[in-house]
Amino acid sequence: MFLRLLIWAIAALLIYRALKSWFGGGGSRQVRTDHHPPKQVDDDLVQDPQCGIYFARRNGVSLNVDGQEILFCSEKCRDAFAAQKE
Ligand SMILES: [Zn+2]
Repeated sequence: MFLRLLIWAIAALLIYRALKSWFGGGGSRQVRTDHHPPKQVDDDLVQDPQCGIYFARRNGVSLNVDGQEILFCSEKCRDAFAAQKE
């Protein structure tokens, strides 16, 4: 009787583990690596050097300073920065 209970417990544990690896870790991790192109990550956060706010790169307004691209949260910040530079 006790042995039967033990077997059931082990079976339940194995099923639980199988389901967990099915839904959990494996799947979402795979999606993540798929959505990880080397350079063109446009939704990572950048800091606006003018106002200090963090925003998504794709929402940024860019300005070229000495051949370097600087991103700002808005055109207002970009213009203010450019005005300061001169
Ligand atoms: Zn700003």
